[in-house]
Amino acid sequence: MKPFTYVVPSSLDEAAAAGRQANTILKGAGIDLVDRMKERLQTPTNVVSLLPLKNELAGLSIGTDGELKIGALTTLTQLEQYAPLAERAFAALRDSAAMTATPQVRHRATVAGNILQFTRCWYVRSEAFRCLHGGRGPTCLAMTGDNRYHSVMGWLDCVRVHPSNLAPPLLALDAEYSTVLDGKVRRRRLADLFPAEPRAQNPEHTLEQGEIVTALHVKKQPDGTRSAYCESREKASFDWATTACAVRVVMDGGTIADATVVLGAVAPVPLPRPAAAKLLVGQKPGTALFAKVAETAFAGASPLVHNGYKLTVGKAIVRQALEEATK
Ligand SMILES: Cc1cc2nc3c(=O)[nH]c(=O)nc-3n(C[C@H](O)[C@H](O)[C@H](O)COP(=O)(O)OP(=O)(O)OC[C@H]3O[C@@H](n4cnc5c(N)ncnc54)[C@H](O)[C@@H]3O)c2cc1C
Repeated sequence: MKPFTYVVPSSLDEAAAAGRQANTILKGAGIDLVDRMKERLQTPTNVVSLLPLKNELAGLSIGTDGELKIGALTTLTQLEQYAPLAERAFAALRDSAAMTATPQVRHRATVAGNILQFTRCWYVRSEAFRCLHGGRGPTCLAMTGDNRYHSVMGWLDCVRVHPSNLAPPLLALDAEYSTVLDGKVRRRRLADLFPAEPRAQNPEHTLEQGEIVTALHVKKQPDGTRSAYCESREKASFDWATTACAVRVVMDGGTIADATVVLGAVAPVPLPRPAAAKLLVGQKPGTALFAKVAETAFAGASPLVHNGYKLTVGKAIVRQALEEATK
């Protein structure tokens, strides 16, 4: 690892000012970041630890208007164990946290760090390879190499996938995120955090240098809201998803009044599938309907040489998530 200066700020203002310095990177628990630094993929001059700001930036609360606020430094364990998330509306969020990694990782990993983690593509994460996304080579090596875990849709010049478990359910619940940058607080839709054109030269997110995510917000859900998160993976434990799906439905009696479907682990960004969700609206849950929704969710997908299985498995995961949300 290249030597660097470790900055331990005593306030959010101090962290924000330090984060604006050239070649500086922010650190949550460091689970993803330190791994990248050890591989010399990231060689910052300064690393600003956000963990001293836990009093301000960690924890969950429900506001008087029913809005859920999740501090950026909240751990996945805190998220998973927060009692109000026992509601069916939040099942996708709770379960996606519970399915992530191992108990040890979940006790340390922060919500913001999970959403902002770098892709797991084995070409870009290894010092041995010169790949386009890392800015070290002319082409996406996964496109012609071993691409069993890579994208089946939504890619342009790089077939990495977005690895976050938490991003699909938060998008399905139409979450927003707050940041601070140069003393300004901004609040935007979570969808804006991911690049609209996920090209190789774009990072996984749209944050500016030194912009600190302070919290995630989920508005009070209408009565009858239920959500579910399902994923496939190779190993039963501590493995990233090979396909994932978060769904949110609002039930009115036996009919689906509103719906959202978001895919994970199949594209360079977490992918809302509005055309698939629209098929659900005004319908009663059923096997034939769910099969049609799953087909539509993967419409336009074109697998690479080694990841055709993602279409079959991914559609089954969509159907499973819909069955869970509506049972
Ligand atoms: C064995 C193992 C299995 C795993 N399995 C899964 C899995 O199944 N699903 C899954 O989703 N993840 C999985 N992970 C990944 C893990 O969840 C993430 O590495 C972790 O959540 C990152 O959080 P962190 O706080 O350590 O982030 P860090 O490593 O500290 O940061 C990650 C990135 O986010 C940026 N960042 C962090 N906080 C902020 C902030 N507040 N504002 C702005 N930028 C910020 C950093 O600059 C960095 O670029 C696994 C990890 C391991 C080790």
